[in-house]
Amino acid sequence: YPTRTVVARVAPLRSRLVLALIEDRTREHRVEAVRRDFVANVSHELKTPVGAIRLLSDAVVEASDDPEAVERFAMRMKKESERLSVLVQQIIELSRLQGDDPLEQADPVSVEDVVETAIDTSSIDASARSVTLSVQCDSDLVVLGNEGQIAMAVGNLVKNAVTYSPTGATVAVTARSLDSFVEIAVTDQGIGIPAADIERIFERFYRVDPARHRSTGGTGLGLSIVKHIAAVHGGEVRVWSVEGQGSTFRLRLPRSHDLPDEDEAL
Ligand code: ADP
Repeated sequence: YPTRTVVARVAPLRSRLVLALIEDRTREHRVEAVRRDFVANVSHELKTPVGAIRLLSDAVVEASDDPEAVERFAMRMKKESERLSVLVQQIIELSRLQGDDPLEQADPVSVEDVVETAIDTSSIDASARSVTLSVQCDSDLVVLGNEGQIAMAVGNLVKNAVTYSPTGATVAVTARSLDSFVEIAVTDQGIGIPAADIERIFERFYRVDPARHRSTGGTGLGLSIVKHIAAVHGGEVRVWSVEGQGSTFRLRLPRSHDLPDEDEAL
């Protein structure tokens, strides 16, 4: 009897250990597959602008006695190299967000300030396309986090809202307090997102219309970065959208009750 009891106790423990080991291995394999996939995607995405820049630089050399053609090719080269630079910056940002210390530092951050920064980044694009940016922020909202990252998350949402809106439309940014969260919502009257794609738009490099992204200049990384920023802050991002009518992205971040204290800073 005593021996049997010991065996009965040990067996489930051993099978739990084996199960934990299998789960661990499965996780390791999954992580490795995701990493391989990411490297393959990055290589593919980098190839396009790098290839274009190479061809365009050849074209510039060949057209050296035609100043108009040189200028045309040089302008296209500038556009491609800007695209390449955004892509590289976003890849670095994404890998930092998935690293060991993604938040880097957390301070009380004024929501009005980050919304203003985000709006400023898109204001030139918006006015070029006659898109009105409207802002309605409750005053004194403070979240706890990394100011640069939060401004980047809101900035990516505003940039998308402007990009996927028709000329003359309005993009509305609102911020309000909801229990222990602050909710920043970005609403557009743009093309909307088909129901079949909505689950996938936060994936890296996922685009609803890959053919169109050349003209919009998007990288397919913006929303993935927003999702990671929300997660490292203990928040979340969600989307509501009707195709042909528009979308609302809601970013929720934990509230901080500490106002940025000017006396303390002195
Ligand atoms: P991109 O750089 O291509 O905009 P994102 O990761 O920011 O990449 O977005 C992924 C895809 O989600 C976009 O390619 C676009 O198809 C869709 N999308 C994002 N925001 C909006 C929006 N406000 N309205 C319509 N579609 C959107």
